[in-house]
This record gives sequence, C-alpha cells and structure tokens, in this order.
Amino acid sequence: MERTLVLVKPDGVQRALVGEILARFERRGLQLVGLKLLAVDRQLAERHYAEHRERPFFEAVIQFITSSPVVAMAWEGPNAVGLVRTMMGPTNPANAPSGTIRGDFGIDIGQNIIHGSDSPLRAQEELALFFSEAELVSWERSGSDWIHPV
Ligand code: UDP
Ligand code: MG
Repeated sequence: MERTLVLVKPDGVQRALVGEILARFERRGLQLVGLKLLAVDRQLAERHYAEHRERPFFEAVIQFITSSPVVAMAWEGPNAVGLVRTMMGPTNPANAPSGTIRGDFGIDIGQNIIHGSDSPLRAQEELALFFSEAELVSWERSGSDWIHPV
C-alpha cells in the first residue's frame, strides 16, 4: 500500500476543477486520506520544488504555486504514486493524451493543473510538507475488497 501527494495547482482551483479531479481518483479506487485548501507561502514552495532550484523555470513555478490557493490531497492505494502519475499525464499538457488530467484540461506547461509525487520516497517527504500526522487519517473504507484484495 502506498500514499502519494496530489496538489490541484492554482489554475485548477481557479478553473473549478477540484471536484472533477478528486472524483477521478475516487472513482479509480484510490482512497482519500487527507484533504485541505491552503495558500502556499514562499518557504513551503521552495521546499516543495527544491529539486528544481537550479532550473531556469524555478522562479516561475514558485511565483505560480504561491499566486492563489491550492488543494492538497493525500491518496492511498496499491501503487498509488505511479497510478496518479499515469492519470495526470506527462508534464507538458501539449504532449498529454486525452483521458489524462493534463491532456483533458491543459495546454501550457506552466499551467498544468496538477502535481503528483514522482516516487514513494518523495511522496513521504511531500506528504510531511503539506500534512501533519494528525491530518493524515487511516480509515477502513466499506467495499475496498471490491476494488483490490485487502
Ligand atoms: N515546469 C515548467 N517548465 C519546464 C518544466 C517544468 O514550467 O520546462 C513546471 C511544470 O509546472 C511542472 C513543474 O515545473 O509541473 C515541476 O516540474 P517536473 O519536471 O517535476 O514535472 P512534474 O513532476 O510536475 O510532471
Ligand atoms: Mg515533479
């Protein structure tokens, strides 16, 4: 069982895509274990995107993620990290197939609607950045055995 962090970025929140995106993961069979709307400050943004510090787009992504609220979600399930990445589609929406979130809702690499952790290790680190332990809830969902072996 894995957990992963999803952010609906400022463009997704402003375009009222939160419910649509949440519903896709929910319907797929992932289980919601954390959820909040928050304003990301510069310090949190720099920690979240630390791996990109030397990249030319770093300042632009920091400006963007701090420009308006985001919705943070923690999702749990078998292979949750990879599953979410597949459902998001590639980084550049221009290359993202229809049926993926970026491919259905985006056209610009800077405004690509959603973030998802790219490895189980990063998922643990990113979940700790956005959620306290008490905000991540372990719970038993009725009917899970109809989605995957429990
Ligand atoms: N990004 C960008 N220009 C680039 C590469 C990335 O604006 O050339 C932004 C884009 O919003 C992306 C984020 O920086 O989601 C983080 O990049 P990463 O390579 O980690 O892509 P992701 O994991 O989000 O697919
Ligand atoms: Mg990434």
